[in-house]
Amino acid sequence: MNFIQELDLLLKSKYPIIYVNSCEEERLEYTIGQFVTKKFSITLLYWDFVEGYQGNPNYYSIGSRNPAETLDFINNLSIPCVIILRDFNLFLNDNSIIRRLKNLYRSLRSKSITIIITSIELKIPTALKEIIAVLNFPLPDKSQINEEIIRIFDKLDYPIDSLFLNNLTQSCKGLSLEKVRKIFCKILTKYGKIEPSCLDLILIEKKNQISQTHILEFLSYKSTMSDIGGLKNLKKWLMLRSYSFSEQANLYGLPSPKGLLLAGIQGTGKSLVAKVIANEWDLPLLRLDIGKLFAGIIGESEFRVREMIEVAESLAPCILWIDEIDKGFFNPNFINDSGTTSRVFATFITWLSEKTSSVFIVATTNNIYSLPSELLRKGRFDEIFFIGLPSQMEREEIFSVHLSRVRPNSWKNYDIQSLSSLSDKFSGAEIKQSIIEAMHTAFYERREFCTNDICIALKNIIPLAYSHSEELTIIENLALSGKIRQASDS
Ligand code: ATP
Repeated sequence: MNFIQELDLLLKSKYPIIYVNSCEEERLEYTIGQFVTKKFSITLLYWDFVEGYQGNPNYYSIGSRNPAETLDFINNLSIPCVIILRDFNLFLNDNSIIRRLKNLYRSLRSKSITIIITSIELKIPTALKEIIAVLNFPLPDKSQINEEIIRIFDKLDYPIDSLFLNNLTQSCKGLSLEKVRKIFCKILTKYGKIEPSCLDLILIEKKNQISQTHILEFLSYKSTMSDIGGLKNLKKWLMLRSYSFSEQANLYGLPSPKGLLLAGIQGTGKSLVAKVIANEWDLPLLRLDIGKLFAGIIGESEFRVREMIEVAESLAPCILWIDEIDKGFFNPNFINDSGTTSRVFATFITWLSEKTSSVFIVATTNNIYSLPSELLRKGRFDEIFFIGLPSQMEREEIFSVHLSRVRPNSWKNYDIQSLSSLSDKFSGAEIKQSIIEAMHTAFYERREFCTNDICIALKNIIPLAYSHSEELTIIENLALSGKIRQASDS
């Protein structure tokens, strides 16, 4: 159900108190206004703390700077109406306001009066949770952004071709209309015109906006498939899906892939794979900071997970990278959090199974055995891959990747086969580290680093596989049992 359908249902069922959270007050009020006056032809009143009531000259300024009077006034109303109380959440921690709202909840049901509290954040005290219906006002969709851009260009009397319009619309996805207007205003002030080179500026603004959510980060990497050594099965799986988010795939009837869970020990390239997918598929990469999702005040996490879903969906098609998923939902520190973690997990898992938007999830974990079976069940992810320690051949590839990057002209002079034999049980990250160590040593002695420097570095590094051998055996056994797929072909 979309926002209007949900609002329609609540108004028809005479729901007395609704709470809508949105960062777009103007667009929200316009949408509610259009719908309520056209469909229900009833009075619409607005209230804010400074001005009091607006929308009817008889009620002007009633309730100004007085939230209790605001609610008492509603109690005395008898005409059917919808009342928008702007930022009224700021007064919901007052006991007398809570009581008044509870009383209103009972009396309004028979009067066809609905209160809509609008706010940029979702904060409802437990005492009111049962009587308030929460609605989420989504960010503008592609067609709304498209319309807004056409309107801006019309106003400026600028011509715009359909390709540029499409690119602008695509790059503004995930932004509020207010933000879109502001960006165009900024571009015009800075450059005096809007042209294709301005798309970069939009991207920067978008990154800033997304970072303001504090839980999502907008990243860009230039890593390609050739930066990954080994993992042939996983690479093939990804290659077969590289055009799945295209218009042609849609016309072909292909459903968008849901996502991947990558399990394995640290440093085996799970994060690298997430970065490569986004770059190879040419999709925006969003990284969820799962620690921050649960940080702060209990109850806020539920709001944040919805916010995360909304931002990700508004940017679709995109990649949502959930790093170390086990550290968030299944962290023992969150056990006594009044059920917040389980509610957030339920919201997330329902979205994972039911989502139709083109948000491809790449979740990574070092502790697959600590994940609950609900997450691992079929239908949540398209595939679960185990990324183990690289084989002899794979280590050769990893050495080649990293040596060719730092020594593009002379990397073939290194004895990669011997290095690979010496680095049994080393992860990709440890192999990379051994090259860096060798470079430090040689640079200090003012000479070029050689195979022997890397051999010495390898001897000095104790691979994590030795200190975490038990965990590794558990994951390896899981992979060998056939329950999860091997990323590597060896
Ligand atoms: P963690 O669980 O600690 O986050 P991870 O499995 O996500 O580890 P990465 O962070 O992707 O591992 O690996 C660190 C770095 O090691 C990578 O950026 C890359 O340079 C190198 N690396 C790891 N695996 C490979 C690989 N298969 N091919 C090439 N480089 C690799």
